[in-house]
Amino acid sequence: MPSGNQQKNSNQNDVKMLISFIIMAVIFTSIFNIFVSSITMRRATEITYTQFLTMLENKQVDTVEIQSDRLVITEKPEQNNEVGFYTNIGKQYYTGIVNDPVLTDRIIKAGATQYREVQNNSPIITFLASWALPFLLIYIISGLIIRSVSKKMGGVGGPMSFGKNTAKIYAQKETGITFADVAGQEEAKESLREIVDFLHQPEKYTEIGAKLPKGALLVGPPGTGKTLLAKAVAGEANVPFYSLSGSDFVEMFVGVGASRVRDLFKQALENAPCIVFIDEIDAIGKSRDNQMGSNDEREQTLNQLLSEMDGFDASKGVVILGATNRPEVLDKALLRPGRFDRRVIVDKPDLKGREDILKVHSKDVKLSNDVDLHQIALGTSGAAGADLANIVNEAALRAVRFGKDRVEQNDMMEAVEIIIAGQEKKDRIMTESERKIVAYHEVGHALATALQKNTQPVQKITIVPRTMGALGYTMQMPEEEKYLMSKEEILDQITTYLAGRAAEEVIFHTATTGASNDIEKATELARNMVAQYGMSEKFDMVGLESIQNKYLDGRNVKNCAETTSAEIDEEVLHIIKQCHKKAIELLEQNQNALHNIAKFLLEKETITGKEFMNLLEQSREKELI
Ligand code: ADP
Ligand code: MG
Ligand code: ZN
Repeated sequence: MPSGNQQKNSNQNDVKMLISFIIMAVIFTSIFNIFVSSITMRRATEITYTQFLTMLENKQVDTVEIQSDRLVITEKPEQNNEVGFYTNIGKQYYTGIVNDPVLTDRIIKAGATQYREVQNNSPIITFLASWALPFLLIYIISGLIIRSVSKKMGGVGGPMSFGKNTAKIYAQKETGITFADVAGQEEAKESLREIVDFLHQPEKYTEIGAKLPKGALLVGPPGTGKTLLAKAVAGEANVPFYSLSGSDFVEMFVGVGASRVRDLFKQALENAPCIVFIDEIDAIGKSRDNQMGSNDEREQTLNQLLSEMDGFDASKGVVILGATNRPEVLDKALLRPGRFDRRVIVDKPDLKGREDILKVHSKDVKLSNDVDLHQIALGTSGAAGADLANIVNEAALRAVRFGKDRVEQNDMMEAVEIIIAGQEKKDRIMTESERKIVAYHEVGHALATALQKNTQPVQKITIVPRTMGALGYTMQMPEEEKYLMSKEEILDQITTYLAGRAAEEVIFHTATTGASNDIEKATELARNMVAQYGMSEKFDMVGLESIQNKYLDGRNVKNCAETTSAEIDEEVLHIIKQCHKKAIELLEQNQNALHNIAKFLLEKETITGKEFMNLLEQSREKELI
């Protein structure tokens, strides 16, 4: 198996590195020692013992140093008698040791000093001075060089760092997060609870012979709380949490990622029971077969991960959690039993889930009594947990900005709009005719909604421009959450989208660019009706498109021939035309209401759903009279 070799290979590489380092250090130190001794010896000239004795007799000797293997003789400096300066600093000589019992006497007679080398010949100190110290120096210096070089090259560890790299392993002893902090993911929590229990008392499972899944994969759209859930599992089980993001593994150097995986698992095993969390695992786990050209680094890293997952003993209590929003690109090998064999879906929250998440996040926020989180939850269908957390924070910020001491419902509503449409842009100046067009356009949408009984009532209409491009918009708040849409409802929805432009046509007999977003959404709905929902007569229930990245943008992939594709377009055109016609008819029949409400909106800039409905009733009564 390739992954098994992988592990061996990398271990061998480490050993090779170490050996070559030792050889290098030995050579360096030898050279260093030769160099040092050549410096200290340079000044000494060898003389015979007889010459030494002659020097003693001539009283030329200043000191005699008795070393273990030689005598080092320092000559008396020659004195320049006239000036009194030494012209010559004592020259050094050395000679071998001869068994001379009267040496000391001779030296004293000659008026020289004798001393013995101070315990310099202790083997330990000699070794330390001449070997260990240079060794250490070389190690430190080379370490510094390698670090600075690899930093420049973008890697943290670098290939020369003997497999010891400082990967950004994010380790937490206690995450401090529990399931109570994760709202609205009941099913996900339920499937993770078993893992928590296992980490608590692995014996309970091993005793009976049960093998727990080694890993679970958290799958879902961004911001739904996957990372949060992983931390909560660690928090609930009260075990350390090791995490690395998939992208941390992908480095410039081949092999760095693999060694990081090894490090991660080594650390984890030392600290078992614990959780290993690999976020955004698709960065390494991408399927190997559908790529143009191969990526050695990623492949090695993936192989290492696979082999580590196989290699460790699950009964030790290490559980691997992965998170991704693109499960479909993951390599099949990662998903097979014994690896990430459990899938925990972390989907966007439903109405109750949203309300719970809002509750969790407003726990520490001072709320006024009028705050109705249920209503906010209603208006934020499709929002992920991260969006909702953001909304609560925006509301609190807004309350501060307005000098309030509590967050009120209008802060919440405004925050929802900020998240949906961006900040208000009060300073953008629109000409009067532009404002008029925008007002009629928005009222067109709202009227279409109200007039078709199947669609949701409006919450608010505004013509204050927003930073995210909207010049005005109609906010809808459903009274209840819907999971299914009927064909009629979809058609009504398309009509509502098209009614903005229809209003421009009915009143001003013109078309503006303001409808581009409406058109995009309407077309998408119509196309899905034909290609995915089986709602056209022509294609009956044939699936012509499928969704690829379910948890991301959800791009559609065609499953049909080019000619069929052209026919789909025709069907879509047919639907759009039909709805466009309906929108125009609706507005023409209610021109009175359209004018009245638009006038009111132009004056007020923002009207609420209640005001809108009142105006609509009034206009209708007038018409009846
Ligand atoms: P993901 O990893 O799925 O992209 P995160 O776990 O990083 O999302 O979530 C981002 C933030 O959104 C969290 O820190 C938390 O504040 C908030 N959040 C998301 N989902 C939830 C939830 N179900 N309950 C409470 N807070 C949530
Ligand atoms: Mg995440
Ligand atoms: Zn519009």
